[in-house]
Formats: sequence, C-alpha cells, structure tokens
Amino acid sequence: MAALEATEPTTFPTTLAGTGDDNVEKDTRVWFDDGNVILAASGVGFRVHRGVLSAASGVFADMFSMRLTRGEDDEIGDCPVVPMYDSADDLRHLLQILYFGRKYFRPDTCADFAAVASTIRMAHKYQVQDALDDALTRLKTYYTTSLHEWQRVCADGSPALQRPSAAEAIVAVSLARLTDTLSILPAALYACCQVDTGALLRGARLPDGTLVLLEPEDVARCVDARVRIVCASGRIGAQALWLDRRAQTCRTEVCPRARLYARSKILYITPGKECDIFRPRGDVITEMLGEQTEVCAACREQMAQNHEREIAKCWMELPEIMALEVPDWPRSE
Ligand SMILES: [Zn+2]
Repeated sequence: MAALEATEPTTFPTTLAGTGDDNVEKDTRVWFDDGNVILAASGVGFRVHRGVLSAASGVFADMFSMRLTRGEDDEIGDCPVVPMYDSADDLRHLLQILYFGRKYFRPDTCADFAAVASTIRMAHKYQVQDALDDALTRLKTYYTTSLHEWQRVCADGSPALQRPSAAEAIVAVSLARLTDTLSILPAALYACCQVDTGALLRGARLPDGTLVLLEPEDVARCVDARVRIVCASGRIGAQALWLDRRAQTCRTEVCPRARLYARSKILYITPGKECDIFRPRGDVITEMLGEQTEVCAACREQMAQNHEREIAKCWMELPEIMALEVPDWPRSE
C-alpha cells in the first residue's frame, strides 16, 4: 500500500479527464497510485483498493462485483471509475477511517460533531459496524440516559465528542432515527426543545449544505413537550419549597414564611425563553429564596434534597415528556 500521511495533505492540482461529462479531481488525502479503482463523488476522485474496501464492507464488495464485472464504467488509464452518490466529504471521511482506522479516529481524542455524524451516516450505509459502534458511543456521551452524565457534559463537555450546538441536536435526532438508536432520542429531543421554534422548523445544515429536518411528528413532540416541561418546572419548585414539611430540627418561625414568599415568586423557567429544567444550576435554593436569607440550614438542606429528588423524577419521566417509548431508559436512581 502506498504511504500516505493522514494529517499532511499532498496537493494534486491535476484534473483527470475521461470520466464522461464530469471531470474528476484527485483527492488530496485519499489517493493511492497503486489503487485499482477510482471512486468519484461530487467531482472528487479517490483512488483506492477494491480488496481493502471489500474486506471492510460487504456493500462495497457487492458493488464492485456487480459493476466491475459488467465493464460499464469509465476508466482513467486502466483504472475503472465508479460514480458515487455521496458527498466528497462524507466519502473521504469514511475512506480515511477504513485506511487509517484508529490512527485517524483515535478513541482518546475529542471528535468533531460533524465528523461523528458523517461517520454514523456512512458507516450505517456501507455497513461498517465497528466504525458505527464507535461513533454512536461518542454521540451517546452527550445524548445519554443518565441525568448525572447529562449534567456533567452540559457543564464540562465530553472528552470523546465536541459539544454539539443547539441546531446539531436536530442532526442527532436524525441519526438516532436512522440507526434506530432509541436511547439517544429523549435527550436529543429534549435538546431540540431548547432550540427556538423557527430554527427548529428550518432544520440544520450539514457542512456539505445538506438540510436536515426533523420529521413533523418530532417537531410536534418538541412543541408538546415544552408545555409538559413548563408544568414540571412548577411542580419541581413547589415540591422543593414544600410548605408543610419543615425540617425536623427547624426551630424558627421564619422558615415557613420564607417558603411561602419564595413560592409566590418561583420562576424556575421562563416559558418562551428558557425551557431547561435539567441545566446544572448553582445554588438553586438560594436563588429561589431570594432575600429570605435567614432560612435555617436544616430547611435549606431539606429543600435542596427535595429539589434533587424532583429533578431525578422528571428525568426518569423524560421519555413520557417527549411522548416516546424507550425500553432501556433508567427507571430508578
Ligand atoms: Zn427551618
């Protein structure tokens, strides 16, 4: 196999003629002079080895055996050119994984969201299971089933995947639907609930310009879920400040009054502006109590525990909030 650096592109300014109406430019990263087939995608040619691709993917193996025995493809020199219907970026990405494997997509590196999304689409299409599993595992570090993990990556990020933007949650939903990975959906759709409605309807653009839209059913899920989230936020606040349950050791008359005061001004989330009940917040009890600073420590502690318990309960109900059935969602802490 010809030596090729994965990180240092070589420039091939050459345009290769002889492929019908479309000229093909040599790819700067995936081009082996001893390759025996050229894959042409969006005007970019990738000279690769049939054996290498066939060993990694049955889809490539079938494609080569069907096309190349018929001898219908154009040739450059004596190398057949197979037209592909993927974007050049997606195809380059998959080929780099097939050739450079873990050197390219190392487990200890933090991957770019667009690269992970491309890998999932292409590895699913060409049935490269290990690359698909690796990329889905990375995606699951954000769109997790664990509240603890969700709050951790919201605060600190994930070492395996760069933080997805709000619009990229739309892409994550499409990948979960494509691969039938239900466990990703509650958190990914919950993230979509944080996206402005107009942006949600407009969808997200992939780096190659492809537009990704949510299915109408998933848009409806987000719109309906926002109402449920607003209701849940009221319930969380009310339970946290539970009036009749003063801490057992509480000896002051200030606490019940303070709770009543705080309850009258619970604005845990602002409908239409913010819809995130699981966002890590500093000292939410102090925030709720506002000027009522004389509340005793025991009552504060009890409120904090109530609050955490209610948040955890809501997380367990997230599939229902999103109108989903997710069999492996955690149902207890
Ligand atoms: Zn108290």
